Formats: sequence, C-alpha cells, structure tokens
Amino acid sequence: MMESALTARDRVGVQDFVLLENFTSEAAFIENLRKRFKENLIYTYIGSVLVSVNPYKDLEIYTKNHMERYRGVNFYEVSPHIYAVADNSYRSMRTERKDQCILISGESGAGKTEASKKILQYYAVTCPASEQVQTVKDRLLQSNPVLEAFGNAKTLRNDNSSRFGKYMDIQFDFKGAPVGGHIINYLLEKSRVVHQNHGERNFHIFYQMMEGGEEDLLRRLGLERNPQQYQYLVKGNCPKVSSINDRSDWKVVRKALTVIGFNEDEELLNIIASVLHLGNVQYGGEDGIACITSDTQIKYLARVRAQPAQLVSPLNLEQASSARDALSKAVYGRTFTWLVNKINASLAYTNYSVIGLLDIYGFEVFQNNSFEQFCINYCNEKLQQLFIELTLKSEQDEYEAEGITWEPVQYFNNKIICDLVEEKFKGIISILDEECLRPGDASDLTFLEKLEDIVGGHPHFITHKLADGKTRKVMGREEFRLLHYAGEVNYNINGVCVFVVLFFARCNKLCTQMFVMCMSENKILRQCFDREELSDKKRPETVRPTQFKASLAKLMEILMSKEPSYVRCIKPNDSKQAARFDEVLIRHQVKYLGLMENLRVRRAGFAYRRRYEVFLQRYKSLCPDTWPNWQGKLSDGVSTLVKHLGYKPEEYKLGRSKIFIRFPKTLFATEDALETR
Ligand code: ADP
Ligand code: MG
Repeated sequence: MMESALTARDRVGVQDFVLLENFTSEAAFIENLRKRFKENLIYTYIGSVLVSVNPYKDLEIYTKNHMERYRGVNFYEVSPHIYAVADNSYRSMRTERKDQCILISGESGAGKTEASKKILQYYAVTCPASEQVQTVKDRLLQSNPVLEAFGNAKTLRNDNSSRFGKYMDIQFDFKGAPVGGHIINYLLEKSRVVHQNHGERNFHIFYQMMEGGEEDLLRRLGLERNPQQYQYLVKGNCPKVSSINDRSDWKVVRKALTVIGFNEDEELLNIIASVLHLGNVQYGGEDGIACITSDTQIKYLARVRAQPAQLVSPLNLEQASSARDALSKAVYGRTFTWLVNKINASLAYTNYSVIGLLDIYGFEVFQNNSFEQFCINYCNEKLQQLFIELTLKSEQDEYEAEGITWEPVQYFNNKIICDLVEEKFKGIISILDEECLRPGDASDLTFLEKLEDIVGGHPHFITHKLADGKTRKVMGREEFRLLHYAGEVNYNINGVCVFVVLFFARCNKLCTQMFVMCMSENKILRQCFDREELSDKKRPETVRPTQFKASLAKLMEILMSKEPSYVRCIKPNDSKQAARFDEVLIRHQVKYLGLMENLRVRRAGFAYRRRYEVFLQRYKSLCPDTWPNWQGKLSDGVSTLVKHLGYKPEEYKLGRSKIFIRFPKTLFATEDALETR
C-alpha cells in the first residue's frame, strides 16, 4: 500500500523506482532492490514494469487469499506483485477488448518460468469457469510438466532450467473464461541430447523414464535402469539431483500426458529410448571407413525401422559419430516440436481474446560465446527494440490522451544493431547463411573475412584485425565483437559453419537418415520427418539460418499486435541460496536488462500520475476546501488541493483525468503531511 511503503521508505525502499529521488544513480537503484529483498519484498515496479528478484525460498505470497486481494484492484493500490500484472492484463483484455501479452525476461535461474506458472495459476483460479472449461484449464496447466520433462534440464545455474524459449497464448472466450491455448517453441538446445557439461544433465525425461518406468516398459524398450549405462547420459556425471525426484516426476508426466489426451505414449517413449540406444552405437572399422560394431543397439533401433544398413555410409569414424549425433539431435528436436503441436491441438479453440506469455532467455554473456548466444542475444536485441518503442509510445499516447504536451525523450535506439544482424544481403545472418550454403571451401575463417569485408565499417562491429591496440589485446583472432545495447560480447566463430549446419540439420549426410526416418513405422517419427523435405524444393527454406530470423520476425509481429506488460527477473546469487544479495551479479543484470534506461525513459516526464478521484480521495483531508467532500468538478478539486499544499506550477500538470507530478519529493512531502497531520 502506498501509505506503508512511503512511511517506511527508509526501511523497505520505494515500491516504484520512479519514486527514487536520484533516479539516474545505479547505486541508488541497487540499494532500493537490496532493502526490499532483505524484507522479502521481491517485487518492485518501474512504472508498470515489474522487476522481480528470485527469493530462492517459498514465500507465503501466492495463496488463494493473495489472488483474491489482487482481483480487480488498481495497480497502485496494493503492493507490487506478479498477480497485479496478471490481473491488469486480464482486465485490459476484458474492458478494452485488446489482446495482451506478458513478456518475461531475465537470465537463467532468475525465475522466468516460475513467474509464468504463477500467472497461469492465477488465471486458473480466478477466472470464471464452467465444466467444459475445466478440461482446458487442466490441459493448460498440465502442458507444463510435459514440456518441462522434455525441454528442461539440470544445469549449473538452475536445477530446472528451460532449454527452449516459449511463447504461449491463453485464449479467453467472451465471458473471460480460459477456453484454449497455443504454444510456440524457440531454439531447443538440441546439443544437450548428445553432450552435457560436467555437473549438468540431459533432458529430465530420460532420467524420469529410467527411474520411474515400469519394469515391463523398460524391458520392451530394451533399457536398463541405470543412466550410467548410456553414453548420452554420462557426460555430465550427475545422474541424481537432490532437488529433483525423477520417479515421482515420471508419474506426474504420465498423468499429464493422459489429461492432454495422448494416445501415442508408447511411440513417444520408443523414440526417447531409441535416442539412448543410438548414443550407444559404436563404430569400428578399417581403411578409414566406419561400420557399426554394436549389435544390441541395432536390434532395438530397428524397431523404429531405422535400418542399420542405411547407417553404414562411407564415413570415417569421426564423421560417423557426428552423423549419429546429428541424427539423435534431429530426432529429439523434431519430436519436441511434434509434442508442442500435439498439445496445441488439444487446446485448440476458435473465437477468443488472447493473453500471451513469453518466457525466453535473457541476454547471455559467457567466457566463450558461440552461435547459440548470438541467436539469443539477437532475440533480446529485438525485444529491447520492441520494448523501447512500445514504452515510449504508451507514454506518448497517455500524454496525448490527457492533453499534455509531449517532450521528446532522448534514448538509445538499437535499430542500428538489429540491422547489422538482420539486414538482407548485408546483415550478419545473411552472410553466414550464404557461407554455409557455399559448396566446398566455406570455412569459419572465410566467414570472418566476409564479415570484415561487408560490415567491417559498422560502428557496432569489430574484429581482431579491425580493432585498435587496446581492444586487440582482449580479442581472439577467431572472434568478432558486437556492441549490443546492453554491452559488448565477443562471439567465437570457431566451428560456426559446422554448428549452423548441425543446428539447422542441414547436413547432406543427414538426408539418407532423414529418408530412413520418413519410412519409419513409428507414427510420430513419420510425422516429424516430412517426406517432402527431401525434395530440394522445400529444403532450403525450412532449414537455413534465416529461418530463425523469420521466426523471430513472426514473434515480433505477434507481440506488436498486442498490448504488452513486462516482468524483468533478477537472480540474486549464483549459488541458488535464499537471502544472499550478490551486488556484482545484480548490477550486471540491471545493466543487461536495460533497467536504468527504462527508468530514465519513464522518468523523462513525470514521476507520478494518478486519476483525479484517487488523488482527491487520498489527500482531501489536507485542505479545508476539499474536506470532507468536494462537490464540484474533480479537476477543480485537485487544483484547489495542490494550490493549498503549495505546489509550484512547474511541479505538476493537470490533464483530462489525471494529475501528473514531476518530482517524487513533491509527492513525498504530501505523504508526510498526511502522516503528521
Ligand atoms: P528461469 O526460468 O528464469 O531459468 P526458474 O523460474 O526455473 O528460472 O527458477 C529457478 C528456481 O528458482 C526455481 O526452481 C525455484 O526454486 C526458484 N524460484 C524462482 N522464482 C521463485 C519464486 N517466486 N518463489 C520461490 N522460488 C522461486
Ligand atoms: Mg526457465
């Protein structure tokens, strides 16, 4: 509540960063976060943007009572909460009949997925429902454990890390009841199927099946109940995670599959098992030509009719293994997409309004950044562009609606970086695309040279060769650096061409394997590997790097057509601990989330604005003319009130329905007057 938040300002900070006196100071920003975090106040606003810090412990703030408290209440009347964002979007959708979306960003472990689950739960509990709607609600909720089983894994940063980006539409009918949904998945980290770093795991489903699978199921699939037996599961040397119960999760997933209405369980599990068998396929051979030496695996693999003979092609050992891994990744990746489509079919509905939820990786900077980080960061660059555009636009719209003159805001427009990446013919993606398509002699280094040739003069692009002495020292010869809106990132091009080819499954050698997949008796696989793909006409379109660009463009289009809300998630420390506020780490995230810029834009005009009736109701007791009730026009009442309080003309403006106050201190003085009255 405004009152408690303001009077206890010193202890718990301000509940909206726009009320910070020193709003350009990052130190003040962090200090405010720290104060609130210490008091278990994990949510803070920047205007209508919600900033959330992962508490790493269960807080008693997600009860049914809490949900009720936020229903139909104005944003500012209650303390900041994810439910307020959910409720606000819901109400806007209902009253303004405009589709909404909620964009959740932050780095791995910051609490994005938890936030999106909280929003879903809020709708599931608070929205009206009939019996047939109940089925959809159940399916919407149950899609989570299924997607998490197949798309999440234990990483060093997060025991339940989503290894894919997700955009989910929740569809509502005219009564405001959730009646359907639709999910789009982005960039599943397929490389995890065949390789995991030390201390990390493959996708949960493998371990769940191994731990929880019934005896005769495992026998049918030819699996042993021991992850250490499987090449694809031993790399991280971490089969058990203390915070995860694979066995009970398996039950949850099986049940969820039933609720969603699956009847291809068996085939799905067959594929999962066959990926494990595939990983154990060993090659030996003479004359540099590989042939398969492990018979048992082939016996089970043949069940999916991936005929062993087809796998023997004139490859050397290394090529054979990498073709095998490419196949595993393609099979797994496509099965995942098939699963998403299947869930979508179970949620299909027509004639609805929509609230979209986007849960996608934030800006990523590692010691060594590859093409994967490049894609993720490009995605964030686009989201930032959208964010700035829409934030500025909504500010401008509000000023216009209120009849207040708009003063242009200076801000960094990151379009220049987006263009550098995505421009036709001359953008980095186009260049990469072309290099990978070039037969024969294309390599990582020729790609780098091409880049230097074409975008070398761009102010946001630099390489070792182009850099001045100082920068050159910290750059490798096989890197290029982009100056993103959030900071500099060096990308390693080592293996980028091979990576891109595998990433998009555009490997000629895969064709034979794809062909085999199209012939498979497994219904799911047959649907995953479309026969048409083998014809040259279709292939180039579906599998090139530009495909990612196109899918992002599509996402931007979806988001642009909706009214956005934002949740920015912050991870307080790297050790998944409660009550530890690691300032260096947090400062880093505040920077990469662009929060200071956000606050600057939001504060460019007025720090505080309130509808006349709300303002008058709260402060009318401070002026004899407005107490106990003001009878005339609301704006006259507010005008009388603030004049009595001694507001100077430059401190405020009166719009059509709201008062705009420029500085927090004006408002604080009024709040203090209320206290000491
Ligand atoms: P992300 O999706 O951003 O990678 P998650 O949402 O999976 O991160 O959160 C990581 C972990 O942090 C969760 O498994 C949970 O233990 C904890 N966590 C996140 N948000 C909250 C919250 N609001 N309350 C309590 N714990 C949380
Ligand atoms: Mg996640």
